[in-house]
Amino acid sequence: MEAKQLIPDKNLVAYCGLYCGACSSYLKGKCPGCKENTKASWCKTRQCCMDNNYSSCADCEKIAFMDCKKFNNFFSKLIGLILRSDRPACIRRIKECGYENYAIEMAGSKRQSIKRK
Ligand code: SF4
Ligand code: SF4
Repeated sequence: MEAKQLIPDKNLVAYCGLYCGACSSYLKGKCPGCKENTKASWCKTRQCCMDNNYSSCADCEKIAFMDCKKFNNFFSKLIGLILRSDRPACIRRIKECGYENYAIEMAGSKRQSIKRK
């Protein structure tokens, strides 16, 4: 895969709310981004969103995402602590402003996640 430019693209918003378009693996051409990454079959969040035809957990009508053990569990909290990422804040932001504006904001700030405070 070739190196990529950092651009706003709503299709690069991951199912869990991360912005793959600003991720170094994506930009180096090492990962196609969550939506195209068929190797990420381990991820329950990704699988659930695909099964329900959601673009992310921001579209979920089944459960409040913070109550969902696929989205919010011990490992997701641990990864959030290590990477200092705040995926719940990402999902809340997508709900507030929509996918296109979220992609513009994240590409503009060169962030793959909203930072933990
Ligand atoms: S944790 Fe799951 S939903 Fe989030 S970017 Fe990775 S594969 Fe996609
Ligand atoms: S919040 Fe949970 S149930 Fe809803 S789409 Fe995400 S993983 Fe699926």
